[in-house]
Amino acid sequence: MINNLKILYHQGKQYIPDVTTVDVPGIFRGRPIISKTVVDENKLINVCPTGAIGANPVSIDLGKCTFCGECTFAFPEKISFTKDYKISANSRTDLIIKEGEESQILLNPEQIRTEIYNFFSGSLKLRQVSAGGDNSCEWELNAAGNVNFDMGRFGIEFVASPRHADGIVITGPISENMAEPLQICYDAVPDPKIIILAGTDAISGGIFDGSQALNREFLKKYHIDLYVSGNPVHPLTFINGVLSLIRTKK
Ligand code: SF4
Repeated sequence: MINNLKILYHQGKQYIPDVTTVDVPGIFRGRPIISKTVVDENKLINVCPTGAIGANPVSIDLGKCTFCGECTFAFPEKISFTKDYKISANSRTDLIIKEGEESQILLNPEQIRTEIYNFFSGSLKLRQVSAGGDNSCEWELNAAGNVNFDMGRFGIEFVASPRHADGIVITGPISENMAEPLQICYDAVPDPKIIILAGTDAISGGIFDGSQALNREFLKKYHIDLYVSGNPVHPLTFINGVLSLIRTKK
């Protein structure tokens, strides 16, 4: 007994006490800041492998960005990345960061459906669908439930069956082979249900955008409740995004 208590004392706290304010240690690229410094915009745009950088004004679309860092390596005076991991939005256009903008990304309360707070603010069960994913976002979502991040403390958990779920979390660019299984899974979730896109591949197709191997028709049919950017998504980004979605009372 004494030895067990000694081990517990030695290990300290395994969980992050407050996942909404904790700093991310080490290297992390979160919300970018684009200065108003004048640079060669064509060169800047051409450096991006996914077409995430736009011109007039210079902007970065976090739904397309792979967070590779090439733009900040080439133009450090123009683009820098903060460690702000709260980079989810419920409007696709809110993921586009323009030059001079330094404010946090917030969910638009007007676009959150009323039933989300009423049904899911205290408990949200999700079915994860890897639709051609590379297992990076999937691992990070798995980590969101581990002892460190412990999103289960908020009643948010992944479940094995869509019939037990309140919504689906899609990762991956949605390959042709996964289009039908995705639809079947979504249909099996009882109403009301939500859809979350997690990661660059899910939001825009990422580096696979335009590939004939994809079938993203599913996304044209339904309202997307939350876009969680990241490549892969950080557990703190996912947890904070979902909390903002389910805790906003209208
Ligand atoms: S970090 Fe994002 S915006 Fe910058 S070059 Fe890479 S993909 Fe493009």
